[in-house]
Amino acid sequence: VGNLRIEEATILTQAGAQLIEKGTLVARDGLITYVGPAATAPAGTEGEQLINAAGRLLMPGLVNAHTHLAMTVFRGYADDMPLKPWLEDKIWPVERQLKHDDVYWGALLGVVEMLRGGVTCFADMYHFTEAVVEAAWEGGIRAAPSGVLLGFWDDAAERLQQLVEYCLQLRAEKSRRIHPMLGPHAPYTCNDQLLGEVAAAAREHDLGLHIHLAETAGEVTESLQLRRVTPVRHLLELGLLAGQITAAHCVHLTDEDIALLAEHQVGVAHCPGSNMKLGSGFAPTAELLAAGAVVGLGTDGAASNNNLDLMEEMRLAALFPKGISSDPTVVPATAALRMATLGGAQALGLGQLIGSLEPGKRADCIIVDLSGAHNQPLFDVESQLVYAARSSDVDSVIVEGEVLLHDGKFTQLDEAEIIHQAAAVAHALADQ
Ligand SMILES: [Zn+2]
Repeated sequence: VGNLRIEEATILTQAGAQLIEKGTLVARDGLITYVGPAATAPAGTEGEQLINAAGRLLMPGLVNAHTHLAMTVFRGYADDMPLKPWLEDKIWPVERQLKHDDVYWGALLGVVEMLRGGVTCFADMYHFTEAVVEAAWEGGIRAAPSGVLLGFWDDAAERLQQLVEYCLQLRAEKSRRIHPMLGPHAPYTCNDQLLGEVAAAAREHDLGLHIHLAETAGEVTESLQLRRVTPVRHLLELGLLAGQITAAHCVHLTDEDIALLAEHQVGVAHCPGSNMKLGSGFAPTAELLAAGAVVGLGTDGAASNNNLDLMEEMRLAALFPKGISSDPTVVPATAALRMATLGGAQALGLGQLIGSLEPGKRADCIIVDLSGAHNQPLFDVESQLVYAARSSDVDSVIVEGEVLLHDGKFTQLDEAEIIHQAAAVAHALADQ
């Protein structure tokens, strides 16, 4: 299990600038033990799975640093609305009806969609975390689930305690692929007391945090009116920036906010598709990168995107800053590709485990077929991946050395059944 050899591949390791031509990758028990030329590869062993990737590209799996996976069941349910009424009038009322099985099938649908698009790890913030974890565990994908905490719940403190206990249980039982975090929803939906308690729990148990931050101009205005500080500075003052934290969006930032995010190595989960769709604005990614911030990419939920296609986010992340600044040199393809791989891994505090293909890291990788008409001719692999390739070019997906998608076919998941079940729960929810 997890013993694999991939041969004859063009390898983009994201650990150095050079491509390895006709290279070999070897994984033992889910860990990469060798990446390099075939000539110096260790000898094959009995029972290892062999994949010939001739003519194709082998690269690190993509990391979706911010999503609400089960929201696939609300894909297309309410579109073309501003964030506040979209949440309050449309999404939150149907979310109140959700049950464990709805989240399970919605999450599995998301797992299928993401694996097909080359995503091997995702950070999730949602209700019924156990159902998301169940779907991720069965689906073979890597996950960083955070649950979700809202300050207006009467029993928020109790739920925080339960979430902490669940995180510790996951760490004991499923640490191979599940990396739990705590998910206070946002500074504007969590009161100071809850945020302080979350920060204390994170410190005590060495857990990362996952939060929405500075998503809309309205959130910043409200924060300035209430407390005279920006949402970023507010989190700093409450102690949330001290440890590992992933902050989704970070659209409306002052120069001081940018400096603080960089200084505290906050993992920014940039979600260009969702920000554009909800008219939230566009994150100053060129400035964040220039300041040395850690930036990954997220799709956000499928209700505000409306897909979980990280290749598309990568392209948006590279294109939009150019359009806004009238400068075609900002956020080049290499930077966008890094956000989708190593940047995302680092943004989740998983940079030591995944994000690049190096001995000692987990064998999470994808094989991409760049032979199609839309990818020819091929002068520069990184540029092609960002500006021309499609998520449907991904033909094989490996997590922990396990081949989950092989030549476009799932090896373990029943894709048709998952699509059928997820559609059934989605329609039942919408009809309530
Ligand atoms: Zn979100």
